[in-house]
Amino acid sequence: MLQKDTIIEAEKLIKQSNNIVLLTHFNPDGDAIGSITGLYGFLIQLKKEEAVKMILPNAQPDFLKWIPHSKKLMNAEQHLKKANELILNADLIISLDFNTPARINDLEASLRNSKAIKITLDHHLQPDDYANLILSDVSASSTCQMVFDFAEQLGWKNYLNKDIAESLYTGIMTDTGSFRFDSCTGTTHRIVGELIDTGVDKSKIHGNIYDTNSENRLRLLGKLLHEKLEVLSDYRTVFLSLNAAEQAQFEVKKGDTEGFVNYGLSIENIVLSVFFVEREGEVKISFRSKGSFDVNSFARKYFKGGGHKNASGANVKKGMDEVISEFVSAIKLYKDELESTV
Ligand code: 5GP
Ligand code: MN
Repeated sequence: MLQKDTIIEAEKLIKQSNNIVLLTHFNPDGDAIGSITGLYGFLIQLKKEEAVKMILPNAQPDFLKWIPHSKKLMNAEQHLKKANELILNADLIISLDFNTPARINDLEASLRNSKAIKITLDHHLQPDDYANLILSDVSASSTCQMVFDFAEQLGWKNYLNKDIAESLYTGIMTDTGSFRFDSCTGTTHRIVGELIDTGVDKSKIHGNIYDTNSENRLRLLGKLLHEKLEVLSDYRTVFLSLNAAEQAQFEVKKGDTEGFVNYGLSIENIVLSVFFVEREGEVKISFRSKGSFDVNSFARKYFKGGGHKNASGANVKKGMDEVISEFVSAIKLYKDELESTV
């Protein structure tokens, strides 16, 4: 749960601001888009519709385009000047679902330089302290759950409607691996229950997100699992990689590789799964682990990345082969820890 005094302070700032920017991270996922549009839904009810702008550092993926209010999201890649102006001239900026300004790429400088009062609302570990007010709950399943907690503690629950509920349900579902991770607690389920009671169509949301594969995506996944799965049994680790040529061959579009990292963890006894993908001259790494193995620390230590204990990421400006060989060397130092992971 969030601390009441920080929430009350945040509410005061929201009520007195006429120029509010809601920001979320680069490559926004379900929790990013769900939390920003869910909070926006509450702010509309507070008659702040005209005062609020929602900005994404880059495009939202197609499978999230049905989310309520998402047509009002500004894609800063297409409107960089305007997005920077809005951030610089805001009087209040609320950053959702990211813990460091580096995660908003080209908007980082304007966020840092803006004179606005800055609020962070986020569940990632170790939030940077660039903000004036940090609303952090690393035990929350998702930022969407935090938006609900925030609203509930402020007595805004009578503003909850189906649009807001669809947004928040999406982020909770996607960040908990469909309600299965340890982060998904009784409290999470109670919140989800209240969201469902507004009339949310659960199977529609699930279908929009998980059953919108292109044929190419499914074939690509098949090829990777068949030809490229590397299993390091002694280290209870698997990894997959996808280079630029393979992406061209399968006409891979943004978001097509989302979730590929999870398949490795379905192999018996595996506790660490890693996915490497070449993207614009960098290698983007996704780490997923089970139980006590902490990929946040691992990603921070070796690749300047981070995230959560069981789900982290990093971006490295090196070639694929070099990154993979650094990874394999690093993992060899963790044999005992991986063996004893429960
Ligand atoms: P994904 O593998 O789905 O891109 O990211 C998994 C988690 O790691 C997310 O919670 C995300 O916030 C975090 N993450 C992804 N990429 C980076 C990165 O480059 N730096 C940091 N610090 N965190 C990341
Ligand atoms: Mn999240």
